[in-house]
Amino acid sequence: MPVAPNRPASAAAGVPNDLAPYWMPFTANRAFKQTPRLVVRAKGMRVTTVDGRTLIDAIAGMWCCNAGHNRDPIVAAIQRQAAELDYVTAFQHGHPGAFELAGRIAALAPADLDHVFFCNSGSEAVDTALKIALAWHNIRGQGSRTRLIGRERGYHGVGFGGISVGGIVPNRKMFGTLLAGVDHLPTTYDRERQAFTKGEPEWGAHLADELDRIVGLHDASTIAAVIVEPMAGSTGVLPAPKGYLQRLRQLCDKHGLLLIFDEVITGFGRLGPCFAAERYGVVPDMITFAKGVTSGTVPMGGVIVRKDIYDTFMRGPEHVVELFHGYTYSAHPLACAAGLATLDLYRDEDLFARSAALEGKFADAVMSLKGLPNVVDIRTVGLAAGIDLAPHPDGPGKRGYAAMDEGFFRQDAIVRVSGDTIALSPSLIVGEDEIGEIVEKTARIIRAVG
Ligand code: PMP
Repeated sequence: MPVAPNRPASAAAGVPNDLAPYWMPFTANRAFKQTPRLVVRAKGMRVTTVDGRTLIDAIAGMWCCNAGHNRDPIVAAIQRQAAELDYVTAFQHGHPGAFELAGRIAALAPADLDHVFFCNSGSEAVDTALKIALAWHNIRGQGSRTRLIGRERGYHGVGFGGISVGGIVPNRKMFGTLLAGVDHLPTTYDRERQAFTKGEPEWGAHLADELDRIVGLHDASTIAAVIVEPMAGSTGVLPAPKGYLQRLRQLCDKHGLLLIFDEVITGFGRLGPCFAAERYGVVPDMITFAKGVTSGTVPMGGVIVRKDIYDTFMRGPEHVVELFHGYTYSAHPLACAAGLATLDLYRDEDLFARSAALEGKFADAVMSLKGLPNVVDIRTVGLAAGIDLAPHPDGPGKRGYAAMDEGFFRQDAIVRVSGDTIALSPSLIVGEDEIGEIVEKTARIIRAVG
């Protein structure tokens, strides 16, 4: 198996002399610092490395730069905003951009999801949604509803709420007992029944009925909310089986539970429509978003809630804060300016329709990798794909790590790898020729790490 070129970290011009002080997130720090993957510039579909090579970004930053990198109108909007109003407290004060952006997002959301609470990341969005769910039951006199239901192989960020409802073992096992009173639905992925599926698998809708079993065990009066990703992204692109989300909705209605769709990845066109809720024809009670709202330029996240939820909070005395929750940087002016310019680009370039139109070609192109050495499954949905490689005999994750290095150092492509799964999720501006390039480079990566 090839390894990255073994040059000292400081050999290339522009590489910082001391890489040690930065403790990098979700990174194999020691291996990275031997052969750093450093990027200094980006534009559109491409990034430039510290040593001057141009790479295709096959993952839109990290599922976030949906309008492409460094788009001029977004850059200009951020610059204008920084020169005009850097910051104003979000508590008891505001600025016009926050209200405008909330309105624009609400207009894109389905049905009566009409109100937007802003924060700064997907993790904060998830914890915010879980807290709103608990508080909503509480103020309606149902404070016994405290249990939260997530799903195995779900990823909901790294806050204590998010890792508690999340279902990724390494993200959980070092951090104690987590939130009390959390249960998990089973994963909807079953390789034997779903291998090499384009779009939503036929098999698996019945797995939603596990919610009935959990309710039977604890009683509905103890359960607040269910949170799922319509397509689990971080654990390898696992789209919900056909009919699964509808069944979850029915069961949540039956038992009085709030249904939260975590659309941090699927939001803003990844699966075609602005939100996956629309693709599946299911209206959740809350949608969490982040990433694509600013095309990755300025950190921002948020929760969209149904009118009825917001209205319930508005029934108390007028001069009392309705929800004791928020962040110093909620609705930060720079993020709002970036968000407004990003939504303009999505609209003006019709990027959600473009994403939907490209889905079939993207799926066909990625599926052509079937049959390459060690490819044991491929899943595609929207402009997202997961390609599972068989683990190397030396251990899980080794082949995946080599694939990432091979992409960065030899094939001039940034691909995302979790374990031995390669994920592809290009910006919605991707051209058909660029889809071809991404798939060709991925094929070379897979052959090289064989
Ligand atoms: N929820 C989902 C579904 C995600 O995919 C992610 C990040 N990939 C998060 C939450 C967490 O977002 P962040 O990293 O911005 O905190």
